[in-house]
Amino acid sequence: MSETKKTKVLIIGSGPAGYTAAVYSSRAMLEPVLVQGLQPGGQLTITTEVENWPGETEIQGPDLMVKMEAHAKAMGAEVLTDYITSLDLSKRPFTAYGDSGTTYEADAIILATGAQARWLGLPSEEKFKGFGVSACATCDGFFYRGREVVVIGGGNTAVEEALFLTNFASKVTLIHRRDSLRSEKILQDRLFKNPKIEVMWDTTVEEVVGTEAPLGVTGVRAKNVKTGEESIVPCDGFFVAIGHAPASELVKDQLKLHSGGYVWVEPGTTHTSIEGVFAAGDLTDHTYRQAVTSAGMGCMAALDAERWLAEQD
Ligand code: FAD
Ligand code: NAP
Repeated sequence: MSETKKTKVLIIGSGPAGYTAAVYSSRAMLEPVLVQGLQPGGQLTITTEVENWPGETEIQGPDLMVKMEAHAKAMGAEVLTDYITSLDLSKRPFTAYGDSGTTYEADAIILATGAQARWLGLPSEEKFKGFGVSACATCDGFFYRGREVVVIGGGNTAVEEALFLTNFASKVTLIHRRDSLRSEKILQDRLFKNPKIEVMWDTTVEEVVGTEAPLGVTGVRAKNVKTGEESIVPCDGFFVAIGHAPASELVKDQLKLHSGGYVWVEPGTTHTSIEGVFAAGDLTDHTYRQAVTSAGMGCMAALDAERWLAEQD
């Protein structure tokens, strides 16, 4: 049966931004409700070692997020398994509609919906998704024990995925469209030293090729962007790691956006273009996109919401 849940603060998203906002708004006695979405714990749940979370020299991403969830609950936040399918920000209280049938009414909303993996947009990529094409090495790497895989991308994610895949694959080819990587130097160093990894520079992937029955990947058609030369790189798995796009679908027609889809916030704050709606983390930040910066913005959003609610009273 459908129910209506009223809250002072509704937090949408359960990554570092959402859970930090939950900790701070709970401690401000705002009794927040946090809706986790389809990926409880957010992006860090699909990685392995996190080595840049202060206080932890090394921690597994999923373990860190379990700790954050426990912390938010211990402070008093109500953490719910649900997914917001639509939002009405045109009048207060704001209304959010959950996939579960629950309607949420909130005096203030903290948006922390983060980002989702970007795809190349090739029809063949779509065809083989789940049948050799993946955007998550942590989730699917195990299936490629003793096999050859290709990773595309040149950022931290691509380099980490390539390194992680060497735990299983016999060979990892990293394909990058330019002649230098944008990932951190420490990761590049590990990549270049790994004998299982070969890098193809100045190269794009034009097509994923494979078999029909059973559906499966046998290689990718790669193109050198400088010479125009094409070749088939044999592989059983193709991992797309070309970045992430902000998850602003819910609010794209209601809030001001910037840089191609990120939610705009007043500089130095988390106030969006609608009073009482706050945004934090990768949803709004196209520059830093780190767990620690997202958590920092989650804290800011809770403090901004608390002050704004006090002014309304
Ligand atoms: P996210 O972590 O993206 O979480 C978004 C949340 O919103 C999810 O819980 C999702 O379920 C929820 N959501 C989305 N839509 C809805 C909806 N409609 N209704 C309800 N909920 C919704 N950063 C580091 O600092 N160190 C690292 O080592 C590191 N490694 C990474 C490895 C990988 C493979 C990736 C992909 C990223 C990595 N990052 C790392 C970046 C880091 O994960 C992100 O910066 C951080 O997770 C962003 O946090 P967030 O809270 O903004 O959003
Ligand atoms: P990113 O830094 O945006 O890198 C995306 C990479 O994909 C770039 O190298 C880009 O090439 C390439 N690319 C983009 N579109 C492409 C296309 N259509 N075809 C081919 N290549 C394409 O994304 P990310 O690596 O996912 O990282 C996202 C954020 O999370 C970053 O802020 C990163 O620091 C953070 N993160 C941190 C860690 C860590 O701290 N250990 C780990 C993972 C992620 P160009 O270089 O030519 O633009």
